[in-house]
Amino acid sequence: CGIVGVIGNNKTTDILLNGLEKLEYRGYDSAGIYVNNQKGKDFLVKEVGKISKLENAVTDDVQGLVGIGHTRWATHGTPTVENAHPHFSADNRFYLVHNGVLTNFEELKTKYLADVKFSSQTDTEVAVQLVDHFAKEGLDGEAAFRKALSLIEGSYAFAMVDKEQPDRIFVAKNKSPLLIGLGDGFNVICSDAMAMLDQTHQFVEIHDGEVVILKKGSVEISKLDGTAVQRDPYTVDLDA
Ligand code: GLU
Repeated sequence: CGIVGVIGNNKTTDILLNGLEKLEYRGYDSAGIYVNNQKGKDFLVKEVGKISKLENAVTDDVQGLVGIGHTRWATHGTPTVENAHPHFSADNRFYLVHNGVLTNFEELKTKYLADVKFSSQTDTEVAVQLVDHFAKEGLDGEAAFRKALSLIEGSYAFAMVDKEQPDRIFVAKNKSPLLIGLGDGFNVICSDAMAMLDQTHQFVEIHDGEVVILKKGSVEISKLDGTAVQRDPYTVDLDA
């Protein structure tokens, strides 16, 4: 029910957990984070229940320079650790969080992923396994993400990390909220500006059907066909 992400800040884990706390009001049944140190080490921590429980499960060594986090409101698959996000591809290359409901995941699973071993009952896992499927066919991470998006139907806000390119977060949305936040030397994503007001007051909208490649020093927005999009940031001032 909520998404956060950060790239280029050495307080990645704190920023994710703080952001998830700020999104607690939206309701959730489980939560998780994925953190990568951009030097080949990464961490996945997921818990059913309160964010405080997730925080207790996150040990001090969970540190990195890119990360994504999620609070889940289960739609497909019961609230369990396996069904909590982030979800990952069978070979642990891609990690993805998702808000929303995919409507054609069963067809996609039958058509492309009949041989893939799944580790959850969620609609979401089909999306990340589908990206991996196209990567295995030879596409790079971005092209595989775009190809998967061109086939997926339903509502989504997605944030994905490719372990082979941990200098970026892949982002897309359709009918579910998601924003970019501009930090000083880093960037963030969130489903609600509230989650990141401790980090920045400068935000950039993402529109349905767009893909964002987010790096620590840049925000590249494009349409699904690759056409570049320019969009100015706006300032959020809240006393809350
Ligand atoms: N449909 C996904 C699931 O059940 C995402 C739910 C959400 O938006 O939290 O895992």
